[in-house]
Amino acid sequence: ASSISKIANLEPSVDPKAELYIYPDGDSTRLVYVTEVNTLQPTLLRTRYFIDANDGKIVFKYDILNEVIGTGRGVFGDTKTFETTASGKKYQLKDTTRGKGILTYNVHNTETLPGTLYTDSDNVWEDPAAVDAHAYAIRTYDYYKDRFGRDSIDGHGMAIASAVHYGARNYNNAHWGGTHMLYGDGDGTLFAPFSSDLEIVAHELTHGVTEHSSGLVYFAESGALSEAISDIIGNDIDRTNWDFGKVAYTPNIKGDAIRSLSDPVKYGQVDHYSNLYPDPNNEDYGGAHINSGIINKAYYLLAQGGTFHGVKVDGIGRDAAVYIYYNAFTNYLTSTSNFSTARAAVIQTAKDSYGENSIAVTSAIKSFDAVGVK
Ligand SMILES: [Zn+2]
Repeated sequence: ASSISKIANLEPSVDPKAELYIYPDGDSTRLVYVTEVNTLQPTLLRTRYFIDANDGKIVFKYDILNEVIGTGRGVFGDTKTFETTASGKKYQLKDTTRGKGILTYNVHNTETLPGTLYTDSDNVWEDPAAVDAHAYAIRTYDYYKDRFGRDSIDGHGMAIASAVHYGARNYNNAHWGGTHMLYGDGDGTLFAPFSSDLEIVAHELTHGVTEHSSGLVYFAESGALSEAISDIIGNDIDRTNWDFGKVAYTPNIKGDAIRSLSDPVKYGQVDHYSNLYPDPNNEDYGGAHINSGIINKAYYLLAQGGTFHGVKVDGIGRDAAVYIYYNAFTNYLTSTSNFSTARAAVIQTAKDSYGENSIAVTSAIKSFDAVGVK
């Protein structure tokens, strides 16, 4: 009865009861108790067990929770569909078809996790921030699976939990919190609810991927590398242009964004190592969001090509460039890697993937030369 002992520390949400049944077993029958384990916290569970009345062995068990398709409108009014779970007379904002699940919680403008798993009576979801968080977590999971063969944040199906309405009302930020992606509501002027932006969702989830691969320390150059790979994946997921974070940022102003990979200086970043922000006051985690512009620019040059600081780079396209960066960052970087390490990792991955004498290798070298990283 190992299954029983595993769940013994859960609090039942319904008083357990057991009824005797005759269970057909091949040509004969068994006397079984039928019972249900039903918990809400810490995990939602509803499993029916058939237990042999004589020896206590589990004869059969199955999940009563059911996967269904829900629908709802996002922050900007668009209708989305997504996997949810039917449980009794209610539905939960929980997709159990991907990895160990994608779950969306309401933290009710607090910072207290995990908050409450969203439930709904008709599977038409009324909270736009939750609809977007859920649908975009699913999109990002699929992106990682389809493009890189990665199964969720840790590569082993780790459950993806999103918490919306995080922090005080008007809270202008989003975070990867180690177990959850946390989305503020935004003040409506500088930011719309953060989960409304697929690129931000992919950026935050990628911080989780980084934590579970290289473990880059979030400070100075290693912190800027963490920011850069999150921006690169965030930008790649919809490939509309070379900007990052254009949907949630200043929702009433069209055409602007949080950062630009093609022209980092446009939004206050630096784009060349000679201009590395030294950050004597340790502001911005040692310039994590400022110096990431240098790596973002190197990535842009590798993908798109161009001449920068007198160095001409032949673009190899988004598919090859993002493949090289994802693999370089997850396979070769460690917690204390700096820009120089990243250069070596990207060049090595280009060799691994496309061969020693490939254009990808030449362009990888030139892209880092162009931004002054040796
Ligand atoms: Zn970030």
